[in-house]
Amino acid sequence: MIIKPKIRGFICTTAHPAGCAAHVNRQIDYIKDSTSLQGAKKVLVIGASTGYGLASRIAASFGMGADTIGVSFERPASEGRTASAGWYNTVAFERAARAAGYIAESINGDAFSHEIKQETLKLVKEKLGKVDLIVYSVASPRRTHPDTGETFNSVLKPIGQPFTNKTVNTNTGVVSEITLEPATQEEIENTITVMGGEDWSLWLKVLEEADLLAEGVTTLAYSYIGPEITEAIYRKGTIGAAKNDLEATAHTLTKQLESYHGKAYVSVNKALVTQSSSAIPVVPLYISLLFKVMKEKGLHEGCIEQAQRLFETLYSGSTVETDEEGRIRLDNWEMREDVQQAVKAAWSEITTENVSELGDLEQYRLDFLQLFGFGFDEIDYELDIDPEVHTN
Ligand code: NAD
Repeated sequence: MIIKPKIRGFICTTAHPAGCAAHVNRQIDYIKDSTSLQGAKKVLVIGASTGYGLASRIAASFGMGADTIGVSFERPASEGRTASAGWYNTVAFERAARAAGYIAESINGDAFSHEIKQETLKLVKEKLGKVDLIVYSVASPRRTHPDTGETFNSVLKPIGQPFTNKTVNTNTGVVSEITLEPATQEEIENTITVMGGEDWSLWLKVLEEADLLAEGVTTLAYSYIGPEITEAIYRKGTIGAAKNDLEATAHTLTKQLESYHGKAYVSVNKALVTQSSSAIPVVPLYISLLFKVMKEKGLHEGCIEQAQRLFETLYSGSTVETDEEGRIRLDNWEMREDVQQAVKAAWSEITTENVSELGDLEQYRLDFLQLFGFGFDEIDYELDIDPEVHTN
């Protein structure tokens, strides 16, 4: 079939297998060209198929020589529908990693469930033995609680009062004002249940019970802080409440890992175009202004550059640098005073008429398309291609 992007709001309902493979291979090439590190060797990545989790998996294998197991929740191709991008990414990663001599196994299913945890433990035992790094990079709009079967939905809303700010329709380029009503107490709690630290800690618990944690084990989860512009919708909003919970979980887990001389970290990463971040109001406009400024200053990074910098921070042999809250700050370039001042100045002036000039909407759109395997020069999108691809 000929596969073209079908964009509906902030999602693309199709994905291109060869394009997704090109995306994965570009990230692999970046890591191969970077300094290799002596770090983790047996790595479990939960949320491994796209965005930060995929980049972490790639950097672990191709930068540290690690064997990996990845857990994700993706859709295979069926009845003329393409698979999801994360499905194709996983196939491409497995092929490349295995060809390079690394173990690369994947589990597709709901990471929040007891069943998928048990299936993963079995595979870890069989293929890796004890793990020395666990990356938790799940981003989901809902979670079915494994004990009660109740499904909770997360919301992206401010807390306390309505929030009005500029936003952009990234498809049309129209800048408008949006007002978001505050979340109810129940919505705040549900968002914490979905995106807070409970599931991360359940993963560590079952791994420990199965005696699968190696001496000196590290576990990582990802967070975001961001500037004043997005504060009401992000850090001080419902998702920020969930991130506070995730960050508190890192401290609890570090105590639990003491007997292994292990450590749990939250890494605060840079704002980037991923399937999750494109769903947050206001944030895509901020990202397109940020990209313009960071590119001009030679500071622009994508997920793979961030993953490499994270592992350099963790495994350079010196003390891991953190902020007062114990978080690794990969957002330090985004949050630099000069960067934020330039973004703030542009923000106050931004309109539909000047958005292409003051912001980098082109880069935003390209990054978005590339998440689904489109927009790669090396791919012929007129070619008839089989959407059903599998490893093994
Ligand atoms: P993403 O949407 O690209 O990736 C989400 C991953 O979670 C995918 O692999 C998906 O398959 C997996 N997943 C979702 N539901 C699942 C389930 N039920 N079971 C198993 N796997 C499931 O998201 P991302 O932007 O890379 O986000 C990853 C983490 O990084 C999140 O904690 C996010 O808050 C954080 N982060 C993102 C940004 C950003 O700008 N994108 C910035 C800082 C931190």
